[in-house]
Amino acid sequence: MQEAGHADVVIVGSGAAGLMAAVEAADAGARVLVLESEPKTGGSTRLSGAYVALCETALQPASREEFLADLIESHHFDCREPLSKLYADEAASTWRRLEDLGVHFIRTFQFAHMSKPWAHELSGEHMGGGAEIVTALEASARKKGVEIATSTRATRLITERGRVTGVVAQSGNRQVQYSAGSVLLASGGFTRNADLIRNFGRPGADAILPMTGEGSRGDGLIMGMGVGAGLDYMTAGIAPTAPADPETGNGVMVIYAGAIAVNRDGRRFCRESDLYIDTCWAALAQPQSDFLQIYDRRMRENYAATMMGKVLTGFREIGVGTLAELGTEIGRRGFNAEATLATVAKYNAAVKAGHDDEFSRTNLVGASGDLLPIEEPPFYAVHCRAGTTHFNGGLTVDTDMAVLDVFGDPIPGLFAAGETTGGFHGAGYMSGTFVGMALIFGRVAGRNAAAARRA
Ligand SMILES: Cc1cc2nc3c(=O)[nH]c(=O)nc-3n(C[C@H](O)[C@H](O)[C@H](O)COP(=O)(O)OP(=O)(O)OC[C@H]3O[C@@H](n4cnc5c(N)ncnc54)[C@H](O)[C@@H]3O)c2cc1C
Repeated sequence: MQEAGHADVVIVGSGAAGLMAAVEAADAGARVLVLESEPKTGGSTRLSGAYVALCETALQPASREEFLADLIESHHFDCREPLSKLYADEAASTWRRLEDLGVHFIRTFQFAHMSKPWAHELSGEHMGGGAEIVTALEASARKKGVEIATSTRATRLITERGRVTGVVAQSGNRQVQYSAGSVLLASGGFTRNADLIRNFGRPGADAILPMTGEGSRGDGLIMGMGVGAGLDYMTAGIAPTAPADPETGNGVMVIYAGAIAVNRDGRRFCRESDLYIDTCWAALAQPQSDFLQIYDRRMRENYAATMMGKVLTGFREIGVGTLAELGTEIGRRGFNAEATLATVAKYNAAVKAGHDDEFSRTNLVGASGDLLPIEEPPFYAVHCRAGTTHFNGGLTVDTDMAVLDVFGDPIPGLFAAGETTGGFHGAGYMSGTFVGMALIFGRVAGRNAAAARRA
């Protein structure tokens, strides 16, 4: 096998975790090489809206203690709490670091399960939030001398006397190897790996549509397992997170702008303002596991103006001038038209009366935004299934982001960050903590991987 080179730190993956780690490791004086399996950098991060949950910032000054309490609650009190504490402790310095790197959040947003608007939002003026973060981090990494090899897929870790000393990779039709002072796995999640989902997911989990980057194959997990790494919260972590159009695979979240979710029988089946994970689990239990989001012109315009509307787009809408025509169109697609129109009328009456008897929906999302009736033409429907933007669960890590083996001991020379890791979210999830985790834990991992190269 051809020796392709050496670096102090070899990082597998160029999403938020890998690039943030690269910047940190380079600043610590390490020679850094990033391997990226796809032709383009950025992974799921590039596709994301990049809401980032942070505390003690200029936009959200509330304390880390308050934030941590919210985090743990959103994790259903079932997670590796030292990792949650690490996140809260490092949030403010990560915000400052991002500001220095040219990533400027402009406002905050309050999702369900947040007592305060912790989620920080970028402007989305020129590109989606995730693309902006990748662009800024990649430019900074390259400026600091980080080498990035795209279309180069790491396949195995190399070990010598129990220490990870490099990786084997596939580059075109060549198998190459890189030696390294330390290796950092930042290869994202496993939402596109049917075998891992079959082995670890709950019944029905294989129906979840991945909306993630093509590289989300769980390669990091498999390479880690290959050298004895432990796994954390795999089954609890396999959950749908956002409705998606089954044909395009694109996410659809007009429910947060006021749309209602209606099943094949023409009935609502959830409180649409709840966390989208809950909506999606409820959707998987509906006839044929699918549903429609139904909305009007005003909701469509409001959605398009949000960051979600900017990145979760490109789905196929039915758009018609009257509700009666909408009934005809959805009837053709096997949905109960009469019952759906009755549901819309009932919902509109409930919004006007200020009381939703069926699901007690009071707001657009969580506790924010006033409800609207569906009454301004044109009217729209989008066919959806439960999709996912990420899974919880992954390699076991400690607060240095060292990968732990199945016995709980660090594997010398091996670090991980981002969606490849498990434990921080445990059994739950607060919106904005996936890009947040990639950035925050990426920094910690980058620093420690750089230090470990000398060990
Ligand atoms: C549409 C969408 C919207 C989202 N919105 C949000 C949001 O607003 N807020 C939030 O917190 N989270 C959000 N998420 C989730 C979040 O984007 C991801 O969890 C996070 O960006 C993961 O970062 P990462 O660096 O760990 O992985 P990725 O960004 O996926 O990066 C991993 C990289 O590793 C590469 N790779 C994989 N295997 C190999 C290999 N063997 N060799 C080399 N390279 C490899 C991949 O190609 C990829 O480029 C969203 C996700 C999606 C898809």
